[in-house]
Amino acid sequence: MSRNIAAPRGTRDLLPEETSAWSHVESVARDLARRYAFDRIEIPLFERVELFARGLGESSDAVEKEMFRVSGAQGSGEEAAPWALRPEPTAGIVRAFIEHGMHVRPGPLRLTLIGPMFRYDRPQAGRYRQFSQWDVEVIGDAGPAVDAELIELGHRFYAEVGLTDVVARINSIGDAECRPRYRQALVDHFAAHEDRLSLDSRRRLRINPLRVLDDKDLPPELAADAPRGMDHLCDACREHFDAIRALLDVLGVRYELDHRLVRGLDYYTRTAFEFYVAGREGQQQALGGGGRYDGLVELLGGRPAPGIGFGIGLDRTILAMEEQGVAPAPRGELVAVLGMGDDHDRRLQIAGTLRQAGLAVRPDGSSRKLGKQLESASKAGARWAVIIGDGDAMALKDLATGGQRDAVSIEEIAPIVSG
Ligand code: AMP
Repeated sequence: MSRNIAAPRGTRDLLPEETSAWSHVESVARDLARRYAFDRIEIPLFERVELFARGLGESSDAVEKEMFRVSGAQGSGEEAAPWALRPEPTAGIVRAFIEHGMHVRPGPLRLTLIGPMFRYDRPQAGRYRQFSQWDVEVIGDAGPAVDAELIELGHRFYAEVGLTDVVARINSIGDAECRPRYRQALVDHFAAHEDRLSLDSRRRLRINPLRVLDDKDLPPELAADAPRGMDHLCDACREHFDAIRALLDVLGVRYELDHRLVRGLDYYTRTAFEFYVAGREGQQQALGGGGRYDGLVELLGGRPAPGIGFGIGLDRTILAMEEQGVAPAPRGELVAVLGMGDDHDRRLQIAGTLRQAGLAVRPDGSSRKLGKQLESASKAGARWAVIIGDGDAMALKDLATGGQRDAVSIEEIAPIVSG
């Protein structure tokens, strides 16, 4: 017998008992996107490797270690692997913004998508090779009000899915004017202790010293006296950051300053933020994160335009909901339609009418005895059974209490079931 084929490592099937939580979380995200006036955009699941290399930076983990390459053509040569599955959506959205000349539209543009991302990372709890993000981007607004609005939106999302104790951690990593000074200060600090840095950090010290700060193997004492971005901000960046903090205070968003938060991707400027369940900060288990990328549009060949966005990981959001015992939203009560003998035409007609009234309905397709049909309706999770008798007679049975109303009309059913 041949061996069964399993799902690829780092991917997961979501079985029906898990998907109601997913549907709930996605619908909260879509509804918030509507209330915050974002328009949906869709982009390909794969793009040219070059887009990610340029947009995310060669030294980012996503490009350096986790690129999930796809090869369309057979064999080798230039066409062999020019694409990669998207590790995040911002680079693709900015590519689309430039390609379609979207800068002429009345801005700022507010764009959103929900979909799978791919990183060829070592799989572990909360870290998959395919995972889903809810992403929002605002292009054409230099802030700081929009920075605060997005942090508040992320915070609200976690509250609306039912999570408690989610904290935003924020930092500013400066801009083209002040970041070089900060980079130099980090190089000076870490170069003096290079022998205590991991191999990764020694390499990053040369290409992107900010990334040394988010190395989880950084000795705590080296991290503790590392220069802080906030102490190196130019006046404009400082004002921007102070304004965000003042706005978050007014909006009542819980946040903490995190000097080591630099985010993995090279394109960020000024504001960087991540969301954590309080107390879980050290474990590389951010629920979501984002930041400002004022140089990215220009870097990818467009006319300069500021941008900011976030990506919220839905997988980790749902794991956190499970840990906190947040019950997924009920699906709406299921109604079974049962009958006698071969009255399937009546069952399907009645099911159709009830569905039109908005109910979830599962007609029994068998000609078994009523007792058997009731049994399988209960097992399938139905709360109600509509039992079709002779002629037009119908009964409505409450499978939770066992109570039954005889001689109901079809019009009476929906109001009773919807309670
Ligand atoms: P990042 O762009 O790495 O900050 O990712 C944004 C969010 O996506 C993170 O905060 C996570 O919630 C989620 N995420 C990133 N990588 C993974 C992964 N490999 N598996 C599951 N979720 C992930």
